[in-house]
Amino acid sequence: MGKAPTQRFTFTNKQSASNKMPRLINRNLIFNLVRAQQPISRADLARVSQLQRSTVSLIVEELLAERWIVEGSMGQLPRGRRPTFLHLNDERGVIALDIHPSQTTLAVADLGGRIVAQSLVVLPSNPKKVIGAIVDAIQKMIAANSDRSFDGIGMSLPGRLDLNLEKLIFAPNIDWPIGSIKSRVEQATGLPVAVDNVANACALSEVWFGDSDGIHDLVAVNVSEGIGTGIFANGRILRGEGGLAGEFGHVQMEPEGLPCACGNRGCWETLASNRAGARYYAEITRKQPLPFDAVLKLAQAGDASAKKAIDKMCVALGRGIRMIASALAPDEIVVVGDITTVWYMFGHVVEAEMHRSPLVRVPRLRPAHDGGKARLRSAVALVMNDNRL
Ligand SMILES: [Zn+2]
Repeated sequence: MGKAPTQRFTFTNKQSASNKMPRLINRNLIFNLVRAQQPISRADLARVSQLQRSTVSLIVEELLAERWIVEGSMGQLPRGRRPTFLHLNDERGVIALDIHPSQTTLAVADLGGRIVAQSLVVLPSNPKKVIGAIVDAIQKMIAANSDRSFDGIGMSLPGRLDLNLEKLIFAPNIDWPIGSIKSRVEQATGLPVAVDNVANACALSEVWFGDSDGIHDLVAVNVSEGIGTGIFANGRILRGEGGLAGEFGHVQMEPEGLPCACGNRGCWETLASNRAGARYYAEITRKQPLPFDAVLKLAQAGDASAKKAIDKMCVALGRGIRMIASALAPDEIVVVGDITTVWYMFGHVVEAEMHRSPLVRVPRLRPAHDGGKARLRSAVALVMNDNRL
C-alpha cells in the first residue's frame, strides 16, 4: 500500500478567515520541510513542496519574522544567484512533560521535536505532593538549560481534558489530583502551558513531525495501560462535547467481558491494551503475571507463550482499529506505544485484522515514528500547535 496522496493548497495575500486552514497546512508543510531538510533554500522549498514560489516566500518571511527559522550561510552555486539557506532557530526550545500511569518523563526539545535532554520524574507516594514535585523538576530543567529560551511547556496527559474548564474529567488510570497542574506550572514558571490528552497530542505530533504532510484525516491510537485515540479530522482535533470524543478504548466489544476501569465491562482496552497483553501471557503460562515490557522482551527472544500472548493482543487491536477505520475513514491510522517496538513481528497481525473489512478502501496503518520518544514529542507538538494558531 503506497503513501496516501498529499494535498497542497495555494493561497494569496487576500485570504478570508475561512481560508485559514489551508494557509496553516502550507505553513506546517514549509516548517516541516525546513526541519527535515535543513539547511534548505527557498527555491528548494518551492520545488519540494510543489507550492508556488510566491507562496513559499510569504510563509518563509512569516516564519523568519516570528523567529521559528533563521537565515544562515549563503549557498555555493557554480553560477547565478547565491541562495541563502534556512534552518530552525536553535536558540529556542520547548519543555515537554509526558505523564504516564507508570512513569513521568521530562525533556527539553528543540523546535524540530528533537529531544536534547531528558530525565525521569520520581513522583512522591503522597498524592498531595505530586504536582509540587513536578514543578520542582521543571524549574531544575529550565535552570540547567539556561542557554536556551523556552516558548512554552507541553504536557501530554493520560486522560480527557475539558479545555474550557481546564480540568481533567476522565483519567481512570491516575490516582493523584492532576486537574490543577496547568495553572500551578504556569504560575511557577511564567511560561504558557499547553495540555492535552496524550492521544490528541500524538495525533498533532504526527501532523507536525511525522511524514503525514498535508493529510487531513488521521487517527492516533495510543496503546498503553488503556487505549486512547486522538482524531485529527478536516485539519483539526475532533474534541466533541466536553472534550470526550475519541473514547474508542471504552467501546464495549464483549458485553460479558472483564470489568474495565471506566465501570463498564468488556471495553476494547480490556482486550487490546498492555494490561491485556500481560494478562494473556499469565493465562497462557499459568504463572505469576509479568510487566508488559518483560513479555515484549520474551516475545522478541522467541518465547512461544509470549508470542502467543502478543499475537492475541494484536488481533484484538486490529479488530478495534477496523471499527475506527469504518467509523471515520481516515487517510491514516498511527499506532503509538510500547507495542510499536515489536511492530516488525506483529504489525502484520494488526494489519490483517483491519483488512477484514467489507469497506473497499482501508487507511494506511503504521507505527509512530521513533516509538520510544513519540509521547514526549507529542508534548512538544502541543506547544508548536498553540503557537501556530
Ligand atoms: Zn471502559
